[in-house]
Amino acid sequence: MDTVHTLADLRTAVDHWKRQGHSIAFVPTMGNLHAGHFALIKAARSRADRVVASVFVNPTQFGEGEDFESYPRTLEADQRGLADHGCDLLYAPDVQDMYNTAAPRAAVHVPVVSDGLCGERRPGHFDGVATVVIKLINRVTPDCALFGEKDYQQLMVLRKMAADLDLATEIVGIPTVRESDGLAMSSRNQYLSPAERRVAGQLHAALERCALKIKQGEQVEKSIETERKKLSKSGFRVEYFELRRARDLAEISSPASESVLLVAAKLGSARLIDNMRFRHEGPSQN
Ligand code: AMP
Repeated sequence: MDTVHTLADLRTAVDHWKRQGHSIAFVPTMGNLHAGHFALIKAARSRADRVVASVFVNPTQFGEGEDFESYPRTLEADQRGLADHGCDLLYAPDVQDMYNTAAPRAAVHVPVVSDGLCGERRPGHFDGVATVVIKLINRVTPDCALFGEKDYQQLMVLRKMAADLDLATEIVGIPTVRESDGLAMSSRNQYLSPAERRVAGQLHAALERCALKIKQGEQVEKSIETERKKLSKSGFRVEYFELRRARDLAEISSPASESVLLVAAKLGSARLIDNMRFRHEGPSQN
């Protein structure tokens, strides 16, 4: 696997493959790679002739007081992991290569779907994500780009961006990879102390119990309130715990035919997010 750091070198490699008629699948990341990222690489392998990954800790998607400076940067280990999982090319630009034009710059805002949930707690976050993803896609020009369902709102924002801006690249979602206790794998899990790590799996358990109760007909508000309280008792500081329509994150008060429960909570200094999609057979709010 080759690593390139500049747009010029990326274009040389990609143009070469395109002349040979190869299709390209793309996996954007912020690095510090784990099994969740490698599941995306594996899925990318099965979808295209060539796989390109990027590692870029994007400053514009971090808010003030967030962990941009301390975000774990482990490029050498990432290179080894990507090579082991069949990635063909790593693009690891620096900030100067990525934002190479004068400020103020054009940016992408995806209305409504960016607004609530994480968008409300992290103002500007999804504008940063959407803008860097469209820049990366314009640079790599892949046939498809793969994203984890773990960041469900992000996936919905990017799907809406792709639809609204007529992106030729297909946006593909990949199921969440979890630890054995259900905790969604994340680079931020390493901020957890050993004691916090022991309770962190409760987040997924809460989603599972809540989804089950709603499916069994319990009132949505009541099921959510019960789980919120349990999480608080375990030491989580819950930012949101909400039921939304799965296909577009529209607000709903009773289950849609396909719904998603989304949660964000702080545990110690780690901010954890997770979600669970489920189908509802009976009468539903579509
Ligand atoms: P990040 O490096 O955190 O920006 O993540 C890069 C990509 O990997 C995003 O599309 C994430 O949604 C995805 N991802 C992160 N963690 C997981 C996981 N546990 N399972 C599946 N995909 C994940």
